[in-house]
Amino acid sequence: MQDRPTKLVEYQTYIDGKWTGAQSGKMFETSDPYTGEAWARIPECDKVDADLAVEAASRAFETGPWSKMTATARGKAMRRIAQLIEKHAEHLAQIEVRDNGKLISEMAAQTKYLPEWFYYYGGMADKICGSVVPVDRPDHFNYILREPVGVCSFITPWNSPLMLTGWKLAPALAAGCTVVIKPSEYTSASLLEFMKLVIEEADIPPGVVNVVTGYGAVVGEPLVTHPKVAKVAFTGGTATGARVNELAARTFKKVSLELGGKSPNIVFDDCILDDAVSGAISGIFAATGQTCIAGSRLLVQETIHDQFVEKLVAMAKQARLGNPQLYETQVGPVTTPPQYQKILGYIDIAKSEGARCVLGGGPATAEDGGGKYFVKPTIFTGVDNKMRIAQEEVFGPVLSVIKFKDEDDAVRIANDIAYGLGSGVWTQSVRRAHSMAQKIKAGTVWVNTYRAVSFTMPFGGYKASGLGRENGAEAIDGYLQSKSVWINNGPGGGNPFIMKTAG
Ligand code: NDP
Repeated sequence: MQDRPTKLVEYQTYIDGKWTGAQSGKMFETSDPYTGEAWARIPECDKVDADLAVEAASRAFETGPWSKMTATARGKAMRRIAQLIEKHAEHLAQIEVRDNGKLISEMAAQTKYLPEWFYYYGGMADKICGSVVPVDRPDHFNYILREPVGVCSFITPWNSPLMLTGWKLAPALAAGCTVVIKPSEYTSASLLEFMKLVIEEADIPPGVVNVVTGYGAVVGEPLVTHPKVAKVAFTGGTATGARVNELAARTFKKVSLELGGKSPNIVFDDCILDDAVSGAISGIFAATGQTCIAGSRLLVQETIHDQFVEKLVAMAKQARLGNPQLYETQVGPVTTPPQYQKILGYIDIAKSEGARCVLGGGPATAEDGGGKYFVKPTIFTGVDNKMRIAQEEVFGPVLSVIKFKDEDDAVRIANDIAYGLGSGVWTQSVRRAHSMAQKIKAGTVWVNTYRAVSFTMPFGGYKASGLGRENGAEAIDGYLQSKSVWINNGPGGGNPFIMKTAG
């Protein structure tokens, strides 16, 4: 267990290229989920700070050097960002772990991979091309410009703070946008370190990337309603996402939402059993289940159900719960106290619904005896897909195992849910793999793998799991808008009182 820090680290936020406190002077404390102790103080910003940040981003977009820079220069600046993330990846990961309690092995893997987003979209910056259109008019030269949407606000959660910020920031900068970021109140520190070690060091001009820290309803909402914000990119819970969408609609902002999930991880009896067991474990116990793509509904074909569950329980039982800063730890604490209570509440719900708890089922202590907010890796069998434990997102290390008969049954159960973010299929049949990939209603289908992401592959949700896509070439479209330009090189004429429709 770590000692209580004698002095709390004091952070400032970053607006218009300057380090500052909240205008109100207020601060809040952020805690280490492993020790439960406060370790840093963060500015508690409100609408006043949000407005200052949006104004700074707006100035940088309208008149600042960023808007005058060539796309090639923008791309080069993004490559500097990538190199600086590479340099500081381990340090940034340690800060993330201190705030969210996720495993250093996972957070370091994320921060070490993050530069790729800035290389990929940085390379795209000067390849954003418009087009010439052979319009149906004589003597016309028509073309389409692709322009940045303008000021974007990003609202991000606590589970993968920098990675989920990078997924938004890289395409936005490549497109030529400027941004204001509001991280989760639980995990602001890594973004503030990122601003100092990466954005400032990379010489990104003032106002291009701004941060406001604080509570969602207080400083997040003004970023969603501000008239000068053109686009909101949000990752978080479905209820908050719905509110963000409603508020943003009032001023016709573009919105992308990456929300919750209750993803089916489907195991057929022709799978490679050991691979599927390990895939089921990584689908739910990695990140202590605190991931939107958790494979929290494990659908197992009835012919192998009992054998599979036996192997699964045997492997899950061995998970080492402990200090998330140690590379050998396999399951860390839950990030926030409300999340801890929520998970325990769902375990009670599952028991009262008649699901059979075959592993875990309550609070845990780490192997070293330390730590707070640990939950035992928990497996329920005998789950019916209609139960709340099968339908609602727990966001914790709680797995619901559901039996199915055949392919049609698996598809029916997999799709009988409000969400549609991830899904997994374990099979050796090529025909079945492609058939399932077509029939599952989800933004991602993983076959014989799970929880894989890449800057090259679009990521996002069907149904209540969200709107729009992050990553891959198409993500840049979310930060661009088209302008149609008509050049008449011929005579005017025609009837001035009617629309020019005819060729
Ligand atoms: P939220 O959706 O409440 O938080 C996500 C972000 O939105 C945070 O930065 C939060 O700020 C901000 N926010 C909250 N309310 C508003 C608002 N009215 N306007 C603008 N921004 C707002 O998620 P929670 O952290 O409360 O987690 C709740 C549930 O959401 C989890 O149990 C899980 O099911 C799901 N979730 C899904 C994630 C995903 O990756 N898809 C990530 C995190 C959570 P603040 O932290 O200051 O409240």
